Amino acid sequence: MADVPKGFTIKTKGFKTVIVEDKLGEGGQGAVYQVDYDGQPKALKWYSGKKLKDPEKFYENLKNNIKKGAPTPAFLWPEDITEKEGEAFGYIMKMRPVEYKDFSLFLLAKEKFASVTAMVNAALHITAGFRELHNRGYSYQDLNDGNFFVNPKSGEVLICDNDNVAMYGENLGIGGKCRYTAPEIVLGKALPSIHTDKFSLAVVLFLLFMNNHPLEGKKAYPPCMTEELEKQIYGAEPLFIFDPEDHANAPVPGINNNAIKRWPAYPRYIQEKFIAAFSKQALTDPSYRIIEKDWLRQFIRLRGEIYKCDGCGEIFFADAIQPTLCPKCRKSKLFALYLKTPQYNVPIHQKTRFYNCHTETDSDDFLTRTGEVSLNKESGGFELKNISTKSWYITNGSTQRTLGPNEVIPLHKGMSIDFGGCTAEIS
Ligand SMILES: [Zn+2]
Repeated sequence: MADVPKGFTIKTKGFKTVIVEDKLGEGGQGAVYQVDYDGQPKALKWYSGKKLKDPEKFYENLKNNIKKGAPTPAFLWPEDITEKEGEAFGYIMKMRPVEYKDFSLFLLAKEKFASVTAMVNAALHITAGFRELHNRGYSYQDLNDGNFFVNPKSGEVLICDNDNVAMYGENLGIGGKCRYTAPEIVLGKALPSIHTDKFSLAVVLFLLFMNNHPLEGKKAYPPCMTEELEKQIYGAEPLFIFDPEDHANAPVPGINNNAIKRWPAYPRYIQEKFIAAFSKQALTDPSYRIIEKDWLRQFIRLRGEIYKCDGCGEIFFADAIQPTLCPKCRKSKLFALYLKTPQYNVPIHQKTRFYNCHTETDSDDFLTRTGEVSLNKESGGFELKNISTKSWYITNGSTQRTLGPNEVIPLHKGMSIDFGGCTAEIS
């Protein structure tokens, strides 16, 4: 069956009736339709069966994933699967909300993030989604820019095409999109796994921040691109465009302008993480690749350092302790106070927000807000409001007090805050 006609009706394994409405799009393996799923609007991804290497294994894998359920709400996960219609079949998933845009559009500059915070949030959401997936023993296998939908205002992410997701050790014969696959897959030495997912994740993150592929510098622009050259760039001789020692694949002015312009805007610790993620060792040995928890920590720190210049209004990343020069007007910013937690140093200004990752021990929850800083116009000092559900214990010199939910306290240097298990200091 090629296109599924409007009105086509089929039963699912979950004993529901699916009526096909409009076609929404087409991918390499199948097409997506809007359907009526027992009265609810849902999406159906339909496979003719002919483009799949092993349709039976694919069908069984989908059934298993449906049974196990989505790792987090960020996944547009298969919810039900249809009966077979000859060789063809499809699975049901939620409709994508209209405010979510295809990630590849951001890379083509056809979509823009509303703010730097939204962009860093997207990095956090993508990384957290993959951590959950991997923690549950799955590998994604085919991670690329076509798999994400991003909300440009909030940076929230929906991860789609979860049909290729398989348990660790399983392989569905998915090669992956060449520019996103780990060198060992390009060379035919390995099959997709959690280790190769880590490489693809680093590529997606680099693309998100720099809008340039990490391996596409000087070497990627010969007069004529051949399959052999492609194998060399992504497989046999991959080289990071910002490799600090080997400049043979450095960015080319006029071609790699995004990378040239954006790279210096990021703090050294972000640059170092990408240098490590695409070092010669990490490109050849999967054990050197960056784990998701490590990325999350860097991005939590980065989000806390987003600052709007007092002089010119430019947004830049300002260090919590050291003075940072505004890249536009060169005015220096040094924060009077910062929160020193066991994990992070968070600059204090009137837009500072604390999350669970700051106020709980060993938490990577970057979504739940727990504290809010504001400027007291009368005193000219900063105040902290407890917006968590816990009581905090404040020690300021010889005085101690409890700060209950919704209570506010002026912040002073040397103050210690026990958030309930995790103690931080105002420095
Ligand atoms: Zn400035």
